Amino acid sequence: MSEQERIPTLFGSLVFNEDAMAKYVSCEAVVAWKQCLKDGAPLQLETANDIADGMKAWALEHGATHYTHWFQPMTGFTAEKHDSFVSPVGGGKVIMDFSGKELVRGEPDASSFPSGGLRATFEARGYTAWDPTSFAFIKDGSLCIPTVFCSYSGEALDKKTPLLRSMDAVSKQAIRVLRLFGDTQTAKVTANVGPEQEYFLVDKALYNRREDLRLCGRTLFGAKPPKGQELDDHYFGAIKPRVAAYMKDLDEELWKLGVCSKTKHNEVAPAQHEMAPIYADANTACDHNQLTMEIMKKVADRHGLVCLLHEKPFAGVNGSGKHDNWSLGTDTGKNLFAPGKTPSQNAQFLLFLAAFIKGVDEYQELLRSTVASAGNDHRLGAQEAPPAIISIFVGKELHDIIDSITEGTDYVDVNKRSLQIGVDVLPHIPQDTTDRNRTSPLAFTGNKFEFRMPGSSMSVSGPNVVLNTIMAEELRWFADQLEGSHDFQGDLHNLIRQALTEHKRIIFDGNGYDASWVAEAEARGLKNLTHSALALPAFLLPKNIELLTRHGVFTENEMRARNEIHMESYCKVIHIEAQTLVDMVQHQILNAASQYAASLCSTILTKRQALPGVTCRVEEALAESISHLNNDLLESYTELKTAVNTVPANASGLELLHYYHDVVFTKMNQVRAIIDHLETLVASDYWPFPTYYDLLFSV
Ligand code: ADP
Ligand code: MG
Repeated sequence: MSEQERIPTLFGSLVFNEDAMAKYVSCEAVVAWKQCLKDGAPLQLETANDIADGMKAWALEHGATHYTHWFQPMTGFTAEKHDSFVSPVGGGKVIMDFSGKELVRGEPDASSFPSGGLRATFEARGYTAWDPTSFAFIKDGSLCIPTVFCSYSGEALDKKTPLLRSMDAVSKQAIRVLRLFGDTQTAKVTANVGPEQEYFLVDKALYNRREDLRLCGRTLFGAKPPKGQELDDHYFGAIKPRVAAYMKDLDEELWKLGVCSKTKHNEVAPAQHEMAPIYADANTACDHNQLTMEIMKKVADRHGLVCLLHEKPFAGVNGSGKHDNWSLGTDTGKNLFAPGKTPSQNAQFLLFLAAFIKGVDEYQELLRSTVASAGNDHRLGAQEAPPAIISIFVGKELHDIIDSITEGTDYVDVNKRSLQIGVDVLPHIPQDTTDRNRTSPLAFTGNKFEFRMPGSSMSVSGPNVVLNTIMAEELRWFADQLEGSHDFQGDLHNLIRQALTEHKRIIFDGNGYDASWVAEAEARGLKNLTHSALALPAFLLPKNIELLTRHGVFTENEMRARNEIHMESYCKVIHIEAQTLVDMVQHQILNAASQYAASLCSTILTKRQALPGVTCRVEEALAESISHLNNDLLESYTELKTAVNTVPANASGLELLHYYHDVVFTKMNQVRAIIDHLETLVASDYWPFPTYYDLLFSV
């Protein structure tokens, strides 16, 4: 079979998509299912039974013996509990059975998933409910049914529920606005997302020799290699055969699952790569990204590799992010961030743009809090990823247009015309396809925004929940004032102008890596939440609670629970890292350095006997430096050990967050500095770990 036929046949072959449904499910049930999707109404049991039957038949034909409700608890990972289709029918016989009830609802023992106190331990049950907007698929012999996960009383315990709620919220408000512009057709507006995923590949045998990589997903120490990314020879460079084989395999696995993997290339750092899918609705994109991360790791294993999704596996080397490309599209096929060709489209585009700018400025701390994690702290503001300050890059043309609106001056384009909202056609806004200011956290890229702050290991749910909800809120603000307006053009103009004037401080087209930006941003009143201990608590600012509850995305309880989980998770990560570092120092590093120093000393003694009169300057200098450093290490690591073992009792979540950041993390860095220095002095034979050089240049 040629690839021309093979790949399309392969694509989605493990997905119970509309094609499969048409074959395995009755026509009436498919129609009923589609109607439910349209109305957002629950499925009748009869329909569910019908679909379950078809799903089962399809799954069995494709080799599945089990089914699982596949969900995304607040750990950020995916969870599954597998039940077999096997059902006893007496006489020692079984049949393969699966009912509509089992399809739509599950009751996993959920006591071990974080709930942030939402579910008292005596009420350990959590419920999963089928998300019929996301297709079921087969993975490892199990039929996976994408579900939401909530508590007995209906509180969201997962990442999917708020995402679906936020998608509804933005759709509702966007339609109000579209109606004002005479659009009577659009019934639904969808948030679309294309997450670009960065990752590292390292050799498995080397990986296994580092406890820090195995337990923490990142190196806790390591001297910089003589060559890193300075030559920029890796970025988009030729892909090495072993990596190419991995990427081919990965693509095929993803295609089978209906993930539209499109682009693959080498990234900036040695051993760093990227995969980008074709965008999909935010819910599907989020599901697919979770699957992608899982498959990336699994396929790597088959190739004797390990895929590192940590935001910063190697200090001093480029980290990994997840660029979240986000836009809004109508069910009539229009992109609401596409500038448009008529005067009316111009006005509508400017309204959506102004709403976005206003929302990001007003809720900058909220957006920042969604990308805060122990891993991402290493990346943001590290001169290779966006700074921790949120700003928007719009490009020169759009910036000029915004200026002309806020200053009331004429926008003079190449045709020397002035520009009036809703009267003139927008000038052509060229899509800069080369470099679109990679230093910007949030860039307008022609017809979508690219949010570059999310970390590589994170679920994209959090950031998209907030992007959707702030957009819903600002569209509401416009719609509230424009509905019933007697002078639509005039009021529209004034509102857009007001929004842009009040919020254009968030627009920044300069170099985000430049030190002067920090000062300028401060003068503009923009927030610079440099690390998680500052960014995570911002989630609960009163204005954020008001926003998310107003649009039904979270209850206040859900927000508090979520925030508690994120803060706890930060502390746990640092705790594990610190313990791992202590362990490695204790069992490997102190010994290695001491043994090497001892061998130097015995060399000195031997040399003195054998060659009296010859100096031992090299051995003496090395032995002395290493001994001093090792003494320092003993002291510094003991402090770290004490800090980890004496975590303040009865401290609040916020106090713990600061303790781990200000005390434990700071001490880890002190320990690390000494180890990195030692590594450069200890002979390779004595150093018990693969170095950065080994790890980054061996695949
Ligand atoms: P690059 O950023 O590398 O130039 P693209 O801009 O073509 O590449 O696409 C990057 C990602 O953005 C891809 O995942 C792509 O599918 C996604 N994307 C493209 N258009 C949209 C859109 N309208 N909404 C959301 N994502 C989009
Ligand atoms: Mg991009």
